[in-house]
Amino acid sequence: EGLPSRIHEVMDRHVEATPDHIALIDDRTRLTYRELDRTVGRVAEALQALGIRGGDRIMIVSENSIPLACLLLAASRLDAWAIVVNPRLSPRELDQIRDHSGARRVLLTAEVSQEAANHADRYEATVQDVGPLRGIAVTGLNLATVAEPIEADGANQVAVLIYTSGTTGTPKGVMLTHRNLLFSARGTAAFRNMTAADVQYCVLPISHIVGISLLTMTLMVGATVRLVAKYDPAALVKAMAQEGVTILNGVPATYQRLLEYRRTAGLPKLDRGRLRLIAVAGAPLDPELKSRVEQELGLPLLNGYGITECSPGISGVRPDSPKADHTVGTVMPGLEAKLVGRDGKAVADGEVGELHVRGPNVMRGYYRAPDLTARAIDPEGWFNTGDLARFENGAMYIVGRTKEMIIRSGFNVYPAEIEAVLSTHDAVVQCAVVGRAVEGNEEVIAFVQLIKGSTATAQDLMAHVAPQLTSYKRPSEIILMDALPATSTGKLLKHKLAESLRSPH
Ligand code: ATP
Repeated sequence: EGLPSRIHEVMDRHVEATPDHIALIDDRTRLTYRELDRTVGRVAEALQALGIRGGDRIMIVSENSIPLACLLLAASRLDAWAIVVNPRLSPRELDQIRDHSGARRVLLTAEVSQEAANHADRYEATVQDVGPLRGIAVTGLNLATVAEPIEADGANQVAVLIYTSGTTGTPKGVMLTHRNLLFSARGTAAFRNMTAADVQYCVLPISHIVGISLLTMTLMVGATVRLVAKYDPAALVKAMAQEGVTILNGVPATYQRLLEYRRTAGLPKLDRGRLRLIAVAGAPLDPELKSRVEQELGLPLLNGYGITECSPGISGVRPDSPKADHTVGTVMPGLEAKLVGRDGKAVADGEVGELHVRGPNVMRGYYRAPDLTARAIDPEGWFNTGDLARFENGAMYIVGRTKEMIIRSGFNVYPAEIEAVLSTHDAVVQCAVVGRAVEGNEEVIAFVQLIKGSTATAQDLMAHVAPQLTSYKRPSEIILMDALPATSTGKLLKHKLAESLRSPH
């Protein structure tokens, strides 16, 4: 396949060829390729001295930062499995991951954030230097844990264990191998025509697959990644104008907040500096938001579709693509895709079906959950994404999630369609449509967050959407909220909204 066998090896070529080129920049400092390579080597030695061996799971609790990147790459050198965890998780969530994974040690970048420091106190971790990394809190050695076997082919070794944010309710530990990550990262870098001259702005957490993929693809092409600990639109605006950022990545909420900032700060226009590509992934893209972003930044907003279990790349829109609508683009080369109907058979051209994919980026499985894995991946290697999609002239469209589809009086209602119509109302910041079970049927319920200070009412919104939707698609109720529950990446937690409809108010 022409890929290195482990994620840390992607930089080897550049350490030789362009040792003085900047690899990483974070909120405090920067490292060249030569410095990064040396640092990672010394951190790996320090981890070894802390008792970490191949097949161990180590938990790294940190915001995006150079220490985090170095710990992740050092784990790769040792064939240890890295579990990167967002310090903003609650103590309960952190304990759950530590216990389920059987982590040998937990390392927390206490000097990077107060949140990590708080968890470190709770774990009674001792703050020490790990090689050249200062102020890392390290918990005791878990002697009860057992190392996983080491794979003969290093590319098949698990590189990261990612506990998905669980927008559907149950957290799962997704095992991604080095080959999984490298295949996806290479595919995405190719979609973007990346070169060493690129500077990628990384506000998406490395605890999330999109962040890991971004780091990997950037180092793979010998470019620079700007790691941002906490997203602040004002800092992004400054970085665009002054730091030579060429690629911006985000989830829809990243762009939503950027536009909101532009408006409230009263900036006449966004100076995009050297920015050449803007990409969005991770959640449904509202067409209205897409066109507003494109107007403001003067670049097409390239939609990409993926899922943690596919490391995450499944499809993407190329910069030179003629399609300007909300398509998620074409399927990554080397990956097979098919759409399956409710009868289990392939659907006809242009029809909606459940998307199944097979290829080198499909996860090893869910850790310590063979039944769950068997339900997700069939014996022939097809992974069921649980998403509903259709194809039009080779371009893919995500229509919704199987489990979120509402069946009202026998008709299929796709929440994304209703949400797109609601979002065309000027006062709507974001919205989420879910089903409510009533006497063997399902009703369409919309939750809406309005622009601060807006006087629009639910009736106004209803009057706005009704003429644009056939009767069975119209919401039975529109509920206004100050904020909608979301994950750290801004993905709406629809199951929480659905639950709120079940429990008595
Ligand atoms: P869980 O697996 O527990 O539901 P999660 O939703 O956070 O957690 P992720 O792997 O982060 O899991 O998200 C993948 C899902 O996000 C996809 O299955 C799809 O529903 C949605 N998604 C990702 N990218 C896009 C996109 N460009 N357009 C529409 N939906 C998208």
